[in-house]
Amino acid sequence: MAILPIRLYPDPILRREARPVSEITAAIRKLARDMIETLDSAQGVGLAGNQVGMLRRMVALHVPDREPLVIINPEISHREGERRIQEGCLSFPGYFGMVTRSMRVVARALSTEGEQLDFDATELLAQALEHEIDHLNGMLFIDHVQAHEDLWKAGEEHGVHEHGDIDFEHEAGHGRVLTAKERDEARKPAMGPGESHEDDGEEEEPFDYTQLAPYRQADFAAFESALRELREKLTAQV
Ligand code: ZN
Repeated sequence: MAILPIRLYPDPILRREARPVSEITAAIRKLARDMIETLDSAQGVGLAGNQVGMLRRMVALHVPDREPLVIINPEISHREGERRIQEGCLSFPGYFGMVTRSMRVVARALSTEGEQLDFDATELLAQALEHEIDHLNGMLFIDHVQAHEDLWKAGEEHGVHEHGDIDFEHEAGHGRVLTAKERDEARKPAMGPGESHEDDGEEEEPFDYTQLAPYRQADFAAFESALRELREKLTAQV
């Protein structure tokens, strides 16, 4: 097994579409094991092929309280409802955004043994499936971020604090009455497919890049300047 370097934004491979896996070979199974090891060592929830430089439709998922797994050629067949939720990404270390995601996602994929896997997902798993399948299509969570204050760096003041609970719930349910479960989901703090984030209402610590594992320290100068540019663009649009 090996830990693979994680590509950071704006690495162009993150904007490319990944190819379907036509045959599950020993090499594909090895890549799957490496992706799980890489994901776990970065303490993430999801990792797509593009993020480790492999344009294959493969996603490693490790949702808390479930076994880690790799899914191959995943396809979403149904989405339902909308919610506003906080999200991060391993290719954007130290950044978070507010995005709109589905309440429920039905998806199908293959396991590394070639068996069909059916998902009827809500909560974090639904979010992770949408986020990671976006990656395979060259899409990133920043594409779903609408405004400057909806993208922030760990340790900064951000838009979530400006939402009163009622407004936030209203927004999450788009006007309809939420179930208790949906309400908890809408209120849930930072837990994105990118970073496992233990935010229990405590102040967020500023992100310390020197603490990142070397395999994630690819090109921070390029990453930081691209993020500065992106945030300026979002400000100009508001
Ligand atoms: Zn991501």
